[in-house]
Amino acid sequence: MNNKSAFAEPYRARAATSKIPFGRPAIVGNELGYIAEAIANGTIAGGGPFMQRCEKWLEQHLPARRALMTHSCTAALEMAAMLSGVGPGDEVIMPSFTFSATATAFVLRGATPVFVDIRRDTLNINENLIEAAITPRTRAVVPVHYAGLACEMDTILAIAARHKLLVVEDAAQAHLSFYKGRALGTIGDLGCLSFHETKNVISGEGGALIVNNERFLERAEIIREKGTDRSRFFRGQVDKYTWQDIGSSYCPGEIVSAFLFAQLEHVEAICARRRALYDLYREHLQLLAKRGDIVIPEATGTDANGHIFWLLLKDEPTRAALIKHLAAHDINAVFHYIPLHSAPAGRKFGRTDGDLAVTDSVSNSLLRLPLYLELTADDVNRIVDTISGFFGQKS
Ligand SMILES: *Cc1c(COP(=O)(O)O)cnc(C)c1O
Repeated sequence: MNNKSAFAEPYRARAATSKIPFGRPAIVGNELGYIAEAIANGTIAGGGPFMQRCEKWLEQHLPARRALMTHSCTAALEMAAMLSGVGPGDEVIMPSFTFSATATAFVLRGATPVFVDIRRDTLNINENLIEAAITPRTRAVVPVHYAGLACEMDTILAIAARHKLLVVEDAAQAHLSFYKGRALGTIGDLGCLSFHETKNVISGEGGALIVNNERFLERAEIIREKGTDRSRFFRGQVDKYTWQDIGSSYCPGEIVSAFLFAQLEHVEAICARRRALYDLYREHLQLLAKRGDIVIPEATGTDANGHIFWLLLKDEPTRAALIKHLAAHDINAVFHYIPLHSAPAGRKFGRTDGDLAVTDSVSNSLLRLPLYLELTADDVNRIVDTISGFFGQKS
């Protein structure tokens, strides 16, 4: 498994008739060798050579002004919320169709998430609804790049500039996706990446805060190091380190960073493989889409990282029936978010602006199909045939 041919000619870990899981983490390179090296280095806490190699890698390849590795994207979002300086009474605009971490980071600071609706084509925040949701208390906008598809960043940046708002990109699913040639996460003031095992590039748990706005550089390091200037101390810029500010413990350990660095070395192959599977799904599901049985996402070319392949069904009962049909054929397909505005904590801590009709309808009708490195073209054919069978079609 230690070479690139694993991608060119995907290996078959399962028999053709066996269960197809929704996702499956994979070793793609020298993960185990680097972990051994980290242990041999004699340091496995945060801040070691592998963490620094991951940061350099991101800074060179995204490219980015500064990347700070964290132990999760949630941690990066919490750092972004601290850096944004929001507090009780302040409002942060975000989609409701996202993961709880997008909101909890700001709620922990006492701020109020204000949920606006999404677009039906990309399932991302509808940029045309943002301005109407702005009040004198609005401090930030958090675009979430769902499934690795880019939000309409030009419009969002223009609105933010007009109203002096911070832009924090939740790019958890969007590592190495692009908007007009720029990597997602490097466009707003701050960007947050995830390396959770469900994402494209993984380290079990893991993340990074991308600092694009110069004015946050110094404070971001302090917040990550329990509020101390330990980073400056290690660079020899101060002769002792002391408590400077609020903060927490957000560095990843070296074993996690060693694993991640091996994954980063193969990111092109990982994304290429996922995009190929995404395109195969699109191609084979075209007929059902033309008949109006399903809606499928647009072609993304190399702008997106092939993170999720979703489809929209007519309604919730149809989705439930299809999930059951696929499960009966040993295929695990899953729905996604219960919108935050309708969740217990969302109702308690946030508010909506306008009706969230698209969010509600999408969350009731969206289905995600299996997508992972070991999935084969035969698997995709089998999944598509099973879906076609459900709609009474021979493919
Ligand atoms: C996965 C995810 C997160 C959280 O990432 P972790 O690394 O698990 O903390 C946040 N936002 C979105 C949109 C995600 O998909």
